Amino acid sequence: MRYTPNPDRYQQMVYHKCGNSGLKLPAISLGLWHNFGDDKPHNIKQQICRTAFDLGITHFDLANNYGPPPGTAEQAFGRILKEDFAGLRDELLISTKAGYDMWPGPYGEWGSKKYLIASCDQSLKRMGLDYVDIFYSHRFDPNTPLEETMRALDQIVRSGKALYVGLSSYNSRRTKEAVAILNDLGTPCLIHQPSYSMLNRWVEDDGLIDALDELGVGSIVFSPLAQGMLTTKYLNDIPEGSRASQHKSLNPNFLSNENLEKIRSLNSIAESRGQTLAQMAIAWVLKKGRITSALIGASKPEQVIDCVGAINNLDFTDAELVEIDHFATD
Ligand code: NDP
Repeated sequence: MRYTPNPDRYQQMVYHKCGNSGLKLPAISLGLWHNFGDDKPHNIKQQICRTAFDLGITHFDLANNYGPPPGTAEQAFGRILKEDFAGLRDELLISTKAGYDMWPGPYGEWGSKKYLIASCDQSLKRMGLDYVDIFYSHRFDPNTPLEETMRALDQIVRSGKALYVGLSSYNSRRTKEAVAILNDLGTPCLIHQPSYSMLNRWVEDDGLIDALDELGVGSIVFSPLAQGMLTTKYLNDIPEGSRASQHKSLNPNFLSNENLEKIRSLNSIAESRGQTLAQMAIAWVLKKGRITSALIGASKPEQVIDCVGAINNLDFTDAELVEIDHFATD
């Protein structure tokens, strides 16, 4: 059935300015890492994206290798852009990345100019786009001069294939170096995409959040639900069809008794705040306005609806934050 977007969509979401730029991101964005490959029916992908957009999620995050097989998430999203989101391109913020293994041989991964430029062209073709809004270097490459990787990002913007550039998973030291090079080239870094959740706090220890504040670079944090662990779904068992049951990126060994105890305690705090655990996990990464957007994934439209409910209570008392700190450890 033809899709008509919810006319009230922009009343459902809050939007945060991304670093020093003029661009606003929704507080919650949707990533297509899992659940958008050839192993999932298209109508579910379609429903997830429509639900997200209806709730004011304007930002959809992809990468060359999302699938399985690699590339198929971009293809599926290209179909959604054509069939569902036709005429809405200027309301959408679409990102993609290159850095991980994508095609055979020495030019199919990491951070060379040869790989990044070719990968960006391939991503645009798969999605049927003239440009993406944000193009990322997906990971720091220790064997390519940082200058070469940043020059490739700059060239992608100058050739009109992306509007902005970002870095993903670079530590604070490499981020500062990369941002300085990009500033010299005249293509400022818009955004950084690291992992961050109540069970994964490396960005605090590394000083990355402080560095991004100082540099005026925005932040979008991936896996704020720790791939589903920060929801109630694993409290009793590993449900059939869940990410942990599929032995992919979420190793069931993470669901140790120790972690489950922490998750139960966090769930009690969420209940006392009148939120689901997923909602509190999202609100927590966004606390004090230091993070621009929480980048979630979803296997069902209902999960998107639950997650966007986080917007109704984003504030924490100091006492709540102290209590959460007892259990929110790596
Ligand atoms: P999350 O931590 O949000 O985990 C998403 C999973 O949690 C879903 O697939 C679902 O699991 C479960 N879930 C979500 N909402 C709910 C809910 N309300 N109730 C119960 N369960 C829920 O994020 P992801 O790990 O999926 O990562 C999000 C995005 O971040 C990716 O799509 C990608 O765009 C980006 N990313 C970037 C990386 C990088 O290197 N830059 C690396 C990894 C991710 P289930 O499938 O079991 O139902």
